[in-house]
Amino acid sequence: MGKKCTNDYFNNLRSVMKSLIKNIIYFFTPNFYNKFHSSSKDIYITFDDGPSSDNTCVILDVFKKHKMTATFFLIGSEMEKHPDIVKRIINEDHAIGYHSFSHKSLKSISFFEFIEDLKSAKLLFNKYSIKNKFYRPPYGDLTVFKFLWMIVTGWKIIMWSHDSRDSFDDKNIVLESILHEEIQFGSIHLFHDDYDDTAEIMPKILEHYSNNGVNCAKIHI
Ligand SMILES: [Zn+2]
Repeated sequence: MGKKCTNDYFNNLRSVMKSLIKNIIYFFTPNFYNKFHSSSKDIYITFDDGPSSDNTCVILDVFKKHKMTATFFLIGSEMEKHPDIVKRIINEDHAIGYHSFSHKSLKSISFFEFIEDLKSAKLLFNKYSIKNKFYRPPYGDLTVFKFLWMIVTGWKIIMWSHDSRDSFDDKNIVLESILHEEIQFGSIHLFHDDYDDTAEIMPKILEHYSNNGVNCAKIHI
């Protein structure tokens, strides 16, 4: 085996071991969720990256019309810019989770920056009397030590089972795939409330779920 092949072999082995360790930790960790075991006809719609001055209120109107609720994973710096929208989300009985202060990947920041980020979360959550500690990492990126720190300090990490791909695909493709996918109760759906397209297709999505007897609920664990 040449030197390059040996390096490739060890790099591959290292990445397989890393992903194996990550999966074992996820499996045995009670505070990590990518779906729920629901006995009711609930699914959980979640929105990342808000609050957005253009679209969050449009989305809130649609949920109000259908008497359904959602979970909003907010960015701290955007919460500071739009306190009225944060209050409206709370007043209309939706859940709020944290999506970091400035949307940097946990893989790109130091442990110190990460701790500071969680301190900002604490201040903001106290300001709005938000009791839960739901966290969704930007880009879904986690590192083992930061993940363990969050678990030890009582955060519940909420990932997703269904990515709407609203940040990648055309709105018609996103909508079509939702209208045709099999509905799985307890599933967690990822959307972004800072996209015009997402706000535009949300009435059709909620109508679809409503017609199929599905309730969109906020996360309540
Ligand atoms: Zn995000």
